[in-house]
Amino acid sequence: MEGADPSRAWSFLVVNEGDRQHQGNQGYDDEPSRYYSWDSTVPNRDGPQEGDLCAVRDSRGLLGISQIDEITRSEGEEKTRLRCRECESTALKSRATVRPTYRCSSCKAAFDEPIEQPIEVTVYRADYGRSWVSVGGAVTAGELEADCYLSGAKQHAIRPVDPQALRQLAATRQILIAGEWWRTGGAVEALEIPGGHRRLTALARVGQGEFRRRLLERFGPVCAFTGPQPGKEPACGPRDRLRKRSTTRTRRGASAQGRSSRTV
Ligand SMILES: [Zn+2]
Repeated sequence: MEGADPSRAWSFLVVNEGDRQHQGNQGYDDEPSRYYSWDSTVPNRDGPQEGDLCAVRDSRGLLGISQIDEITRSEGEEKTRLRCRECESTALKSRATVRPTYRCSSCKAAFDEPIEQPIEVTVYRADYGRSWVSVGGAVTAGELEADCYLSGAKQHAIRPVDPQALRQLAATRQILIAGEWWRTGGAVEALEIPGGHRRLTALARVGQGEFRRRLLERFGPVCAFTGPQPGKEPACGPRDRLRKRSTTRTRRGASAQGRSSRTV
C-alpha cells in the first residue's frame, strides 16, 4: 500500500439526514473524516481497495481527501429495506412537513407506512483516518462534477474519480498536499513562521492626544470602520491600552469634581 502513487480514486457521498432524499436505504454508519460504510446493495461496492485515494463529499462539495488504509467486510448483516406499497420501488422520498410522509418517485403514490423488507447484506467499511486532509468546502460539488468524475452516475454513493484531476483541483485551491502525504499521514506541508522580534520606526502624529480628544468630542465613540461601539469606549485596536490609562485618570478626576460621565 505504501508503494507507488495511487492510480485509483473514489468519491464517497456522505448524505446528511436533512438531504437524504431516497429513504429506501436507512443510512449508514459514517464518520466522514475517519471511515465510510456501505453495503452490497450499492453500485461499485467492490471498487474501492486498500491503497486507493478517496474523496469524501456531501451534496455541497468536497469535505476532504485521504488514502484508504483498510477495507473490512462483514457478511450476513441484516438490513431493512423500505419499499413503495404500490409498486415496491425503493425510490422513496421522505417528507418532513407533508403527510403522508413517504412519496414514491416511481409511481408517485404517497403513504405513511412503507413495506419493510428485511434483507441480508455484506457491510463494507473503508478506514482512512490516518492520512485525512480536510478540504472544508474549498471545492464545490459542481467543480467535482465538471473535472473529476469518470462516470456520470450522480445518484451513486461510490463513484470512480480521476486521481490526477482531483489533485490538480485541490492544488488550484491552495490546498497544500505534500507530494506523498499518505506515506506518513502528515497531511499538509507546514509553512514555517519565524518567531522573535525586530525594531521598527513608526510615524506618530504631533499632538495625537489632543487630536484624539477632539475627535471623540465631535463624533463620540464611533469607529470610522465599524460604526458605533458597544459601551462607552471606542475600540480602536492598538490604542486600547493608552486609552485605558487615560480613561482611568480622567474618571478619577471627573468624579472628584462631581462632573458627569465623560470617560475620555
Ligand atoms: Zn411506487
